[in-house]
Amino acid sequence: MLTRLTIEELGARFRRGEATPSQAAAAYLERIGALDGRVKAYLTVTRETALGQAAEADARFAAGRPLSPLDGVPVAVKDLLCTRGIRTTCGSRILETFVPPYDATVVARLRAAGAVLLGKLNLDEFAMGSSTEHSAFFPTRNPWDLDRVPGGSSGGSAAAAAADLAAATLGSDTGGSIRQPAAFCGTVGLKPTYGRVSRYGLVAFASSLDQIGPFAKTVADAALVLGVIAGADPRDSTAVDVAVPDYRAALSGGVEGLRVGIPAEYFIEGLDPEVEAAVQAAVAVLRGLGARTEGVSLPHTRYGLPAYYLIAPAEASSNLARYDGVKYGLRAPGGRHLVEMYGRTRAAGFGAEVKRRIMLGAYALSAGYYDAYYGKAQRVRTLVRRDFQQAFERVDVLAAPTTPGVAFRLGEKTDPLQMYLNDILTIPVNLAGLPGVSVPAGFTQAGLPIGLQLIGRPYDEATVLRAAHAYERATTWHQRKPPLP
Ligand code: GLN
Repeated sequence: MLTRLTIEELGARFRRGEATPSQAAAAYLERIGALDGRVKAYLTVTRETALGQAAEADARFAAGRPLSPLDGVPVAVKDLLCTRGIRTTCGSRILETFVPPYDATVVARLRAAGAVLLGKLNLDEFAMGSSTEHSAFFPTRNPWDLDRVPGGSSGGSAAAAAADLAAATLGSDTGGSIRQPAAFCGTVGLKPTYGRVSRYGLVAFASSLDQIGPFAKTVADAALVLGVIAGADPRDSTAVDVAVPDYRAALSGGVEGLRVGIPAEYFIEGLDPEVEAAVQAAVAVLRGLGARTEGVSLPHTRYGLPAYYLIAPAEASSNLARYDGVKYGLRAPGGRHLVEMYGRTRAAGFGAEVKRRIMLGAYALSAGYYDAYYGKAQRVRTLVRRDFQQAFERVDVLAAPTTPGVAFRLGEKTDPLQMYLNDILTIPVNLAGLPGVSVPAGFTQAGLPIGLQLIGRPYDEATVLRAAHAYERATTWHQRKPPLP
């Protein structure tokens, strides 16, 4: 079955002439047709685009001239990434019919590498959430248990990767939105360093935190996708010009002598005992492979979540000011003058969680409260970053749970704070701008996936991926498949 193969295996078949990109695209489209009515990972399936791109890839392989390791590989992207000529909704009514006139840089790089676009994936509205239940259209289901959430906000991207509805996908991570759903769906999810991947064409949520990264069936596949999307971009000055290593090649070498820090503050009260046991077992596996593990302290961890819920909404409130019914997206009828048109449009176009964030952010930025809230949160952010800097003087990577619990039931978390707490172990990494990956590290008794989070120094994705790869080689969790046909 072509849809089961990793990117590496699929590419090998293409090169040997044992399969064609058109066959792979057809196999994925068929699987999407058969299963996505239940998983609901896709908002838009770009069948014609996929078949056209696949036919072009067929010709390149026939001529012996593939463009890259991703040539002919069927992928899909979070519907927060602009795709020229293809609807990009951000999971919101306000952009329900928006068709961007340009591609996000990462989408253009995937195209240039020959990847085949299967479609656009569901998410929490504007990436605000941890379950995809805040999508204006429908929630995505967890492939391991269709009554449970896939996590979020990149829940469609995680579910599609886990259910073999794409060979790899892209998501974005502002406070955990790649790593948390990867953990919930039992797939690999990598958030690169802030600045490693261009955000041009990523619809902004919180610009100082947002970062794009891959979901894949294996760490090696994630490394291949990162290699294609990473690197400086004249269209995004925050995508800096730091050399992009050959991530695939950097996976070899193992973890012998690697110093792995275990942050005490990540083994918090309320941590699911099954998650804790799995992560401790994973640490023991790394130790068995020759890594040197030691306890470290990140004392400001507990202030990460409150600081994030000032900084992220503050940035969101300014970023989302552009949706006013004037240039693009929804315009609600009946306004008697401009201000009324703005009000009606935003009232009708945004969901409750987005409105909550806009209000929180506008409040945190307002004249009388700016220093007390936004200013203070920025100072806390510096303390969180320093914690990591100090830890990385002693260790090369940090190992911790990705999430405090496993996938919860749809409709289970109705209190926003309960939802926000999902990201308590991922948010500090965004505040510090560091790379982090979640890899499958076991299952609960009930059969739900558990994620191991590995965190690295700025721009040191190579070491994070090498440790993750060594762990993956030594375990079989990533080989398990959800109970779907
Ligand atoms: N769940 C977090 C939030 O709602 C993080 C979301 C994200 O990373 N995009 O803000």
